[in-house]
Amino acid sequence: MIDFTLSDTHQNIRSMVHWFAEAEMRPLSLQADRECKVPDELVKKLMQMGVASGGTPETMGGSPDGIGADKDKRGKKQINRISVIGSEELAWGDPAMILAIPGPGLGAPPVRFMGTPEQRERFFAPFKDLETAHYGAYALTEPGAGSDAAAISTTAVKDGNHYVLNGVKCFITNGAKAIWNVVFATIDKSKGRAGHRVFVVEKGTPGFRVGRIEEKMGMHASETAELILEDCRVHQDNLLGGEAHYASKEGFMGAMKTFDLTRPLVASMATGIARAAYERARDFFKENYMTGRPIARYRVIADKLAEIARNIDAARLMVWRAAWMADEGIPNTKEASMSKAYAGQLATKACIDAIQVMGAAGLSRDGFVEKWFRDIKVYDIFEGTGQAQRIVISKRILQNLKSF
Ligand SMILES: Cc1cc2nc3c(=O)[nH]c(=O)nc-3n(C[C@H](O)[C@H](O)[C@H](O)COP(=O)(O)OP(=O)(O)OC[C@H]3O[C@@H](n4cnc5c(N)ncnc54)[C@H](O)[C@@H]3O)c2cc1C
Repeated sequence: MIDFTLSDTHQNIRSMVHWFAEAEMRPLSLQADRECKVPDELVKKLMQMGVASGGTPETMGGSPDGIGADKDKRGKKQINRISVIGSEELAWGDPAMILAIPGPGLGAPPVRFMGTPEQRERFFAPFKDLETAHYGAYALTEPGAGSDAAAISTTAVKDGNHYVLNGVKCFITNGAKAIWNVVFATIDKSKGRAGHRVFVVEKGTPGFRVGRIEEKMGMHASETAELILEDCRVHQDNLLGGEAHYASKEGFMGAMKTFDLTRPLVASMATGIARAAYERARDFFKENYMTGRPIARYRVIADKLAEIARNIDAARLMVWRAAWMADEGIPNTKEASMSKAYAGQLATKACIDAIQVMGAAGLSRDGFVEKWFRDIKVYDIFEGTGQAQRIVISKRILQNLKSF
């Protein structure tokens, strides 16, 4: 049986991060949305706290499982559990600002899992400096290849000690300001995934430039960029894992495996946003309708709140299970996708329902819920859409009918 009792470490992290989210993030949330930027003072405070997206300074630069990460009382690493607990709170504070926290971000897992020790040391080293806000990014999506990652058409052609990259990446979170982007390319499109190679493209590399910055419905404080590679010469030392790594199926699958860690993380953020919307609607309901009136008059609304509360608990348990499995080294592809599919959909519905419970007040620009409603949709799209998760889940179920 899995025990989900939070240890003292978990509880301390949860309370400290929640305190920060409430005291420091929420008050700046609407401003950041309007100005499409996280205020510098908040970035500074996050760094002072040692909060980094993609890992803490201690977990960067070391072994694939994240050195220096706290161990639980059985001596097992708990980096994934700690990450989902903290992320739920930060997303509760603000769903967009959490993606603008400095750090290697989604670029961290491929570097950590595919990189050689030398590459891990080299690419993570700048993030150990807590005085400067550095970002890393993960560039897989292209105009013609989103859910179908195998269809990427950015090319990589070997030329001496370099690879020459050509192609366009789009909707890349923090791609414009990143000191490096993890870029997926193909050396031979006819080979499908077997032709994929994963490069770290550093800012300033000749032939690499930033295209348009996307204007989005929500998530304004998180910058999303188009990246253009035109005869971009990347040294072979920046091919993650080196050429030998791609001789086996592990090459592409190694990169895809990082989703098993990042999907529960994104699902935990969706859970945090659902919780924020739910709490807002619950408090509004209590203050505006319940005083002195029988609850039965508002049965339908009360039922709606009960349903959201129930679903938030279910989402969190799925997230914690997937994270726990990752910490234990148990394959969790199905469970990671389940948590992402469930939490992404739940959070979207929770924001819609919160507006419904609050009526017109829910649509006010000053009231947060309207913003969360605009922000949340992407949580059912990036890191694999809800449909893509269902495909992963159904494949696993049908491959292994005994799994249920
Ligand atoms: C704010 C934001 C930030 C992002 N950040 C990043 C980032 O940092 N790095 C990065 O690489 N990408 C990023 N993305 C891109 C994101 O990962 C893709 O948008 C996502 O993978 C979906 O791809 P797509 O938009 O091309 O949609 P498509 O793949 O074209 O899908 C369109 C629709 O078709 C459905 N669909 C597709 N294939 C199937 C199928 N086989 N069966 C059933 N339905 C299907 C999808 O579920 C979806 O509903 C970001 C996107 C956004 C909006």
